[in-house]
Amino acid sequence: MRETLNNMPGEARTCPAVEISVIVPVFNEEESLPHLFERLFPALDGMKRPYEVIFINDGSRDATLPLLLQARKRRPGVTRVVDFNGNFGQHMAILAGFNLAKGSVVVTLDADLQNPPEEIPRMVEQVDGGHDVVGTIRKNRRDSLFRVTASRIVNRLTNRITGLALHDYGCMLRAYRRDVIDIINESAETTAFIPALAQKFATNPVEIEVSHNEREQGQSKYSLFRLIRLNFDLMTGFSLAPLQAVTMAGILISALSVLFAAYMFVRRLFVGPEAEGVFTLLAILFLLMGVTISCIGIEGEYVGRIYQEVRKRPRYVVRKIYEADEARG
Ligand code: UDP
Ligand code: MG
Repeated sequence: MRETLNNMPGEARTCPAVEISVIVPVFNEEESLPHLFERLFPALDGMKRPYEVIFINDGSRDATLPLLLQARKRRPGVTRVVDFNGNFGQHMAILAGFNLAKGSVVVTLDADLQNPPEEIPRMVEQVDGGHDVVGTIRKNRRDSLFRVTASRIVNRLTNRITGLALHDYGCMLRAYRRDVIDIINESAETTAFIPALAQKFATNPVEIEVSHNEREQGQSKYSLFRLIRLNFDLMTGFSLAPLQAVTMAGILISALSVLFAAYMFVRRLFVGPEAEGVFTLLAILFLLMGVTISCIGIEGEYVGRIYQEVRKRPRYVVRKIYEADEARG
């Protein structure tokens, strides 16, 4: 018995299987990273289970990459760094992490410490307890009133339209069980919104409250414009409802226009041509033009995404992966 054990390849004994993979997308976070390292690693060490941290450098233009490589040197064996060839966005970065993650539980975390890494053990506990996706709801959310209100509206609307039920789509501190990660890895969409995608595949999801802090270092990497684009990804990626709503609106408006034209015709026969109503007519015309333009826009949103899918361009390009093992050599 003892002999067979001794004959086993060395690494099978010295390298316990990774149980927890933590994935952190990073974009220009040089100010936050030192604070993140200071809190993340002790929180993970405290769990006393084999873990790995995968940082994805999403095309940062500051000192992010050297800082990540430093962290990897300090903790070889548990830290891996993926260096993207440009800025492909937070969700693509997380997908790259999913592809590499070895753990049976995979946790995603923002680098800016708005969600405390100390919550990770609680989330892993939920997975151990049988949940396959652990979502989080930001308790006392510390963002601008505008962001909070906008996100409340978006969350409600998204649930109505996609038929999913999530309280907080924006909070990225989440945990996933291995089987869900495998399914996500198999789906090759170019515009993926991770929490919604996972929710779709989950069989026993749960949401827990976690605290939320103000971003202390650096600025949010999302401008208003990027947020709107992201939400279009979410909406179009999970339902055809906007498209169908447009069609219904088109039918309704056409029907009303026919009635309106009939009314004008009858009025002309009995009352004679009207000149004063010109501006009313203009107003109506402008309204219809607005409707038409937004309809074309929404159709364009889908066509654009179909275009992206058929091009089959890679979702992200990795310049280099700094693997844990090679740091030891
Ligand atoms: N991020 C990224 N690529 C991007 C934008 C953001 O990897 O193009 C990362 C960022 O470094 C952070 C996380 O995604 O770790 C969330 O970004 P941020 O805190 O700016 O978003 P917010 O909290 O304002 O929603
Ligand atoms: Mg943030």
